[in-house]
Amino acid sequence: MKTIFEKIRDGEIPADVIHRDEHCFVFRDISPQAPVHVLIVPNKVIPRIGEAETGDQAILGHLLLTAAKIAADLGLAESGFRVVINNGTHGGETVPHLHVHLLGGRQLTWPPG
Ligand code: 5GP
Repeated sequence: MKTIFEKIRDGEIPADVIHRDEHCFVFRDISPQAPVHVLIVPNKVIPRIGEAETGDQAILGHLLLTAAKIAADLGLAESGFRVVINNGTHGGETVPHLHVHLLGGRQLTWPPG
């Protein structure tokens, strides 16, 4: 069965997709936790970072470089931003399809809840 992000990837459910390339797609989170909150998702279904393999190295690097590029494109380069990957129950993961959260546009606090 497809994950919700595969359905977004395949255009089967609507989302505000702001970028697509050979390795990933990027869309606005449906429940934004900051003025900018987008998800960078690999086209390939890797369930979570803890299950990524050596062969996924190029994809994983691409996700982070894309996060930085999108942050700059969205005007966050100077003010700053955060990238987050939730893994498993204690990590707060809710969708079993690896995704990088990009958050910005307000002062974020630390430690996270
Ligand atoms: P996680 O908790 O797994 O790290 O993050 C999953 C994220 O996906 C959450 O921030 C949630 O708001 C977002 N999300 C879940 N379902 C949808 C959806 O159908 N559309 C969009 N745009 N975001 C979703």
